[in-house]
Amino acid sequence: MYIHKFGGASIKDAERIENVAKIIKENLDKSCLIVVSAMGKTTNAMEQIVQLYVDNKTAQAFEVLGAIKRSHYEVCDKILSPELSSHIKTELNDIFVEIEWMIEVPSEDPYNYIYDQIVSVGELASSRILQAVIHQLGIDSEWIDARGLIKTDNKHRNASVDWEQSKNLIQKECKPKLEAGKMLVTQGFIGCTSENFTTTLGREGSDFSAAIFASCLSANSMTVWKDVPGVMNADPAINEQAQLLSKLSYSEALAMTYYGAKVIHPKTIKPMQVDGIPLFVKSFLVPKDPGTEISSLEQEQSYPPIIIVDDNNIFLEMSSKDNTFVREAKLAV
Ligand code: ASP
Repeated sequence: MYIHKFGGASIKDAERIENVAKIIKENLDKSCLIVVSAMGKTTNAMEQIVQLYVDNKTAQAFEVLGAIKRSHYEVCDKILSPELSSHIKTELNDIFVEIEWMIEVPSEDPYNYIYDQIVSVGELASSRILQAVIHQLGIDSEWIDARGLIKTDNKHRNASVDWEQSKNLIQKECKPKLEAGKMLVTQGFIGCTSENFTTTLGREGSDFSAAIFASCLSANSMTVWKDVPGVMNADPAINEQAQLLSKLSYSEALAMTYYGAKVIHPKTIKPMQVDGIPLFVKSFLVPKDPGTEISSLEQEQSYPPIIIVDDNNIFLEMSSKDNTFVREAKLAV
């Protein structure tokens, strides 16, 4: 059993979705569970809707939602057969209409609760489209709602996972299907409370969702598909000389993500390490390349210097104009 996670950049438009479908068809074992993020920057746009709604700017909220809907429908029309496209667009409409009903009327609900109900729609929609595309390629697959599997507390926007309950549900629902050779497509980032309210696991949380599935299914491996060749010693977007790290220990990867390396969500490594599941980071642009393997390395590795740029830091240099802070009383014996 294998877990594969495709992020927003890998499915940002029709061409990228087709590329992912090709990777799935040509490279992936049938018995695998695919976790997807929302398409491109959909989550940011959904966040905009939340803000407009709570600010009572309903017409603008509807405008942004309309644009998101249109872009999803256009993707369906581009890559699905006319019949399948019309079927999936009806399903997407059912997903989006819930948000339309919600933002039609003002609400007294807490902001974080509203956020989760609205923002989660991005993953529900993208996963529906991807599953339809791979179905069209003749792959025996099923769309699964992660909210029926990943159970959380009600800390909206940063929910904590109920591991025991989630493990039971994931094993019961997914294992027999995967063992029968069916491919499953589900959403990252989202979960659900015991009262059936949608929750989210924190921004960029889809890697963590994939790790939850991997751990609960004792997967053979998990692969995160990115737009970079793997884990590098620096961000290749800012450092041309960035080098690929072909093997990393869990501890080194944990330290890198903890100190701000953005390639994988920091919560992802721990479940992999605890269960000894190898984690691969590969490029969806060059899928045949080996990428990075993160595992429990027996031999000490020597790494090149690792450079992490955290642009949220401000360095303050302070100096005194005179020495009036030196008070005699303090110096007196
Ligand atoms: N779509 C969510 C986000 O953009 C989760 C993820 O992509 O990991 O933060």
